[in-house]
Amino acid sequence: MSALLIRGGCLYPGDTGARVIPDGSVLVEAGRIAAVGTTADVEAGLTPALRVGLRTIDARGKMILPGFVNAHWHEMFALRFPFKGALRPPADRDDKPAFMALGGDIRQISTAFDVFHDQLELLTPDEASAIARYSMWTQLRSGTTTLGDVGSFNRPQALIRAARDLGMRCVVSTWASDAVCAEGETRFRRTRDADDELRRIEDVLREVAADPDGLVRAWPTAVYGTNMSDELGAGLAELVDRFDVPFGTHVGALRNESAVMLAYHGNTPVRRFAELGLLSDRFMAVHCAFADEDESKLLIEANAHISHSPAKYGPAGESALTETRAMPRFRRAGLDVSLSTDGASLPIGGMAEAMRACWQMYNEMYADPTEVLPTDALAMATRLPARGLDWAAEIGSIEAGKQADLQLIPTDDWRYLLNPRPLEAFLALGGSTDVDTVVVAGRVLVEGGRATGVDEADLEAEYLAALGSFSVRCLGIDPDVVAALTGRPRKSRRQRK
Ligand SMILES: [Zn+2]
Repeated sequence: MSALLIRGGCLYPGDTGARVIPDGSVLVEAGRIAAVGTTADVEAGLTPALRVGLRTIDARGKMILPGFVNAHWHEMFALRFPFKGALRPPADRDDKPAFMALGGDIRQISTAFDVFHDQLELLTPDEASAIARYSMWTQLRSGTTTLGDVGSFNRPQALIRAARDLGMRCVVSTWASDAVCAEGETRFRRTRDADDELRRIEDVLREVAADPDGLVRAWPTAVYGTNMSDELGAGLAELVDRFDVPFGTHVGALRNESAVMLAYHGNTPVRRFAELGLLSDRFMAVHCAFADEDESKLLIEANAHISHSPAKYGPAGESALTETRAMPRFRRAGLDVSLSTDGASLPIGGMAEAMRACWQMYNEMYADPTEVLPTDALAMATRLPARGLDWAAEIGSIEAGKQADLQLIPTDDWRYLLNPRPLEAFLALGGSTDVDTVVVAGRVLVEGGRATGVDEADLEAEYLAALGSFSVRCLGIDPDVVAALTGRPRKSRRQRK
């Protein structure tokens, strides 16, 4: 791989100093950042040998940002028909709040999450791969270079293959559920063997330990404490220790979660993770709005990581941010609080939208426009989640020696006129679809908003075919309905580059 110079952009390295370098450049050698700074300084360091075969990307009129690290995501695109997706009527007037809305009912969600476990196993390996590739492509083209899978409606082997095919990073997990807290019952009920669940994640941890290109890692996750027996929890803690990896779980997302956990499992959610040995500085608590005062103390003492998805809460009817203000308080208490997209069957707000939502909502909550500065929002989408995934030595900021994961966003139109702070203008008026160039480990994967290594029309066609066959065969969706929705000519079909 020859050296790559990204030259003359407004550079936000995302480092601890939150620097901004208006005329900045980045030199990449062998996939890593060799130099970063002002264009004059970086060019002064170019040796004659380096100049031979040097590829230059002109970043004038663009921002250079680190690639986004989306540490809480789920691959869910196989559920595009039944799950708040394609089968809805075009009109929205009859919509009712459901699933996670109005504070959410943890019993209903526990049952649904357990059913997902059986359904996703019905995906054929080829269907799983086609769906994963397309779903992960939508993240990559939106500037996300690293995904943290907190349980997907897909096969981990498909996520691993898709990450390698696309050239992006993914911390893969499994959909771990061996229990359910069902409506009408008073105790949790076992649905699967904990050892089988542990064997599945251990297989994935072993598989990626031998990863040849460094793009794929793995971590154990629990979809929910409700769906985790004590045996599964203790086994996951053992894997965290043995493989030296972080652990992620949804926790404290719903109003009745604590009461149901206490009744069905005998302890409140965070305390239970603590007693099972999972609460440490490697614990990523996802959402975590409804931790009580003692649980909040436990999280702060453990120096846990909090990940939340503010662009998703409003559209989903979740009250995880403003109702308790727990997440901004964790941030004020010094915890790493990061941004993420969460997952849905339809594309939802990406990391750019999560940054905007955080910037707007935190500042509104405290009536203070400096509560979250634009560069704070950027750190929450890059360097901090990289720490949460225990990958910060390699990614999360544009610093010499790190992997060259970065993105370019054009800033030469009316939205940026006379604003010396392009990141601020981007948070006000930009979004995921503005991302122009995406680089992972020095490889240019997206340029001019288009894929360089994969055919987007093929990805989409293969996705629709896999979605159709799975939906008809396993979800009982009418084949004529599927054909009508997936067979229409696609305006977006593009020629191979
Ligand atoms: Zn989630």
